[in-house]
Amino acid sequence: MLTDTFGRRFYYLRLSITDVCNFRCQYCLPDGYQCEHDRQFLSLDEISRTVRGFARLGTEKVRITGGEPALRKDLPEIISRCKQTPGINTVALTTNGFNMDSQYQHWFDAGLDALNISIDSFEPRQFAAITGKDKLDSILSAIDNALTTGFSQIKINTVLMREYNAHDLQQFFNYVKDKPISLRFIELMKTGDNGDFYQRQHVSGQQLKNQLLANGWIQQVRDKTAGPAEVYRHPDYRGTIGLIMPYAKDFCASCNRLRISSLGKLHLCLFSDQGLDIRQYLQSDDTREFEQQLVALLQDKKVSHFLHDGYSGATKHLSMLGG
Ligand code: SAM
Ligand code: SF4
Repeated sequence: MLTDTFGRRFYYLRLSITDVCNFRCQYCLPDGYQCEHDRQFLSLDEISRTVRGFARLGTEKVRITGGEPALRKDLPEIISRCKQTPGINTVALTTNGFNMDSQYQHWFDAGLDALNISIDSFEPRQFAAITGKDKLDSILSAIDNALTTGFSQIKINTVLMREYNAHDLQQFFNYVKDKPISLRFIELMKTGDNGDFYQRQHVSGQQLKNQLLANGWIQQVRDKTAGPAEVYRHPDYRGTIGLIMPYAKDFCASCNRLRISSLGKLHLCLFSDQGLDIRQYLQSDDTREFEQQLVALLQDKKVSHFLHDGYSGATKHLSMLGG
């Protein structure tokens, strides 16, 4: 079992398969993707060995992320290999949804269990202003189609931003009124590159939490492989609302996830100083040495991300690791 010195157990792997992205989200890659290294991303075999090693140590859930993971042509094969790994019961994907309309059936056929799509506005012009892409309509119709084919585990990620969406949260509540979708508001996080943007746009989730509680939303109990969201349900809504508040007191106490970058580095935290290179242990089908390294390196995991102290580690932007 993967356990750290603070007694936290790690059931959940976030696996980045590329750091390339085709969107220009204001808080992440406002100037678009800049290639700063060889694009030697983890191969299919390295991915299989990574997931097998983690699963042998108790990991049950894998989230495939990026950059934009759907830019990889072998994404269905990656999903399928994760899903076929003994011990893995949930394979999830986080995507900006740019090609979801043509691809979601392939993902589901490959065994995808859960899909997170990032949507920061339901107003097409605002969506384009945030992402640099006029794709909202095709993403929304792809979600509707996915729902009608019976795919039920769909979540929306929305980054809260003062000037872009926080003044009109009703659009998000309206969206989940009749849809079995969980929409999660994420507090904007400060990274190495987005300091000014963060200063202008950061909104605390606490106020929204108070508003939810005052309006009859009820907090749900968290599952052991659940992500970091507090989830709220309301009798008048089919969907749910989630809150991800990385600046909240004790956010790190429930940490249950580890990250592997697309270049094969272990990140003990989204905001650690550096990734720990373990790719060399992924070169043979025997994953025992890889597992030993994971167990040993995990002993250095810190108690918190220290974001409160203005610290953002080596993370310049979240497309490096997948959020
Ligand atoms: N490209 C995919 C996408 O956007 O869904 C996957 C990678 S993206 C880095 C993963 C998630 O992190 C997205 O939901 C995105 O909105 C969120 N994110 C990126 N930068 C962030 C930041 N500075 N603060 C909070 N969330 C952020
Ligand atoms: Fe790309 Fe996702 Fe970053 Fe937006 S948040 S720029 S879609 S990696």
